[in-house]
Amino acid sequence: MAEDEEEVVFDEAAWRTVDLGNSMAQEDEETDIWDIADGLLAGAVQYWLYSREPCENPRCEDCAPYGTAEQRVAELMRLLRQYAEESEYYHSQNDTNVGRA
Ligand SMILES: [Zn+2]
Repeated sequence: MAEDEEEVVFDEAAWRTVDLGNSMAQEDEETDIWDIADGLLAGAVQYWLYSREPCENPRCEDCAPYGTAEQRVAELMRLLRQYAEESEYYHSQNDTNVGRA
């Protein structure tokens, strides 16, 4: 797949996930968005781990970085930190370490 096509799929999947959370919150305003967000995250982790299951060839180079559960979780944590830091919501003006003048 071409790189820009990969980026389109990435953006679409991310956008649809946020959109799903928003529509679940709108369906029932009593619903706690923390519960929606935790469920979306659990589903995303499940899907990601499923996608990174190594194939049957123990010498496969593509799967080498994902050869053990520990390696997969390490890569997952790396990506989580990266996406968090790239998020517009990474910093909040209400963060307790923000100076107030
Ligand atoms: Zn493989």
